[in-house]
Amino acid sequence: MKKAVVCGGGGFIGGHLVSRLKEEGFWVRAVDLKFPEYNETSADDFIQGDLRDIKVCERVFDQPFDEVYQLAADMGGAGFVFVGDHDADIMHNSATINLNVLETCRRRNIKRIFYSSSACMYPEHNQMDPDNPLCSEDSAYPADPDSEYGWEKLFSERLFLAYGKNYGMDVRVGRYHNIFGPYGTWDGGREKAPAAFCRKVAQTEDGGEIEMWGDGLQTRSFLYVDECLEGSIRLMRSDWTGPVNIGSEEMVSINDLANLIMDIAGKSQSIKRIPGPLGVRGRNSDNKLISERLGWKPSAPLREGLIKTYEWIAEEVKQAIN
Ligand code: NAD
Repeated sequence: MKKAVVCGGGGFIGGHLVSRLKEEGFWVRAVDLKFPEYNETSADDFIQGDLRDIKVCERVFDQPFDEVYQLAADMGGAGFVFVGDHDADIMHNSATINLNVLETCRRRNIKRIFYSSSACMYPEHNQMDPDNPLCSEDSAYPADPDSEYGWEKLFSERLFLAYGKNYGMDVRVGRYHNIFGPYGTWDGGREKAPAAFCRKVAQTEDGGEIEMWGDGLQTRSFLYVDECLEGSIRLMRSDWTGPVNIGSEEMVSINDLANLIMDIAGKSQSIKRIPGPLGVRGRNSDNKLISERLGWKPSAPLREGLIKTYEWIAEEVKQAIN
């Protein structure tokens, strides 16, 4: 039986990944500071521990594993990573996790390890025009991410690539673009735009008003979690390192996103604009490279994923009220 470790297996994407690997017949060990918030873990073994502690890493990687997915990070949406208040923690915590996990895998001769980087590592100056953002993999340098979160991702990408080069490890680097879906954080300050709007629309009556940070003209693309896992696993099992974008090319404005969610909910609400952290003006995945190298790219329409996500968050909101 093949064995895998999911670091960050108590989180949103990690939780889904544990389930997917279980469906494929893997024996799965998950490790996280916390158990999944909204459902039971399907991991065979769940270690609750802090990956900043090398002793915890030694406990986690105590035997050979066929696949290691390193998704643990101190992260959140714009309200967490773009406000400046958490920069030192984000950089220190996530970099320490990556240093520890990689070094422990090297010592234990565990070779195949996936790292979830982020589109936030792309230079700000290529993402000023909402209609024409540039996020092809080769546009990463000269580097100029707009957040410390992005700088840490860039550092850690390079760390993984260096371990691949110097120690012959089969590292894989995927650059995720705004992943969403059920069982993701939907309140509390770390939630991202799709979940935040699903919550606001669900909490507000038809004809009411929801709040939005900024003018809503900034653009993004959003990838449903199942397709994120498909891309990550395909990259992991390919003979190619990356880095590669794992994202959707269906770019929408934040206004479009909010309107789409209202439409799904069958509600018509007005939008009140308030100041808030916004990030770059435009961002979209560029899927030329993933298509060329993996013969696959995400293709599910945004609406499909939002229907499932809204349904789940609306139910969570209902339960929280009762
Ligand atoms: P998440 O916050 O739900 O999951 C991360 C998990 O890491 C959390 O459960 C957290 O408890 C855990 N963690 C944090 N510090 C830890 C520590 N010291 N020891 C052990 N566990 C620790 O986030 P997610 O959305 O599932 O993201 C997973 C990965 O994908 C992260 O690396 C993130 O940066 C990356 N990513 C996500 C997105 C997105 O849109 N969700 C976009 C780009 C990149």
